Amino acid sequence: MTNRREFIATISFMGTALAANQAMAQAAMLAETDAQAVALGYKADTKKVDAKKFPKHADAQMCTNCALFQGKAADKSGGCSLFPGKQVAGAGWCSAYAKKA
Ligand code: SF4
Repeated sequence: MTNRREFIATISFMGTALAANQAMAQAAMLAETDAQAVALGYKADTKKVDAKKFPKHADAQMCTNCALFQGKAADKSGGCSLFPGKQVAGAGWCSAYAKKA
């Protein structure tokens, strides 16, 4: 039979393990220097996209209104099907942008 102190220690440990698990579940932010990000001209801020290189880009285009964004429209970051295991910035943009229908 577990005594009260052991029970509390067990619960405390489980809480810590759960918190660590949740932190690991949060994917890392995609870096602009990531090879695939560079290849697609990804910028974490759509306003910093090179207009000469991407003449079809418009500042109103950003990850939150892209069909490939997996977060919600108001999210600061979220998943993108092009960058599995990473989070893209909600205000970001890349050349694979496709307007959400
Ligand atoms: S595909 Fe869309 S959601 Fe993904 S990085 Fe490019 S613009 Fe953002």
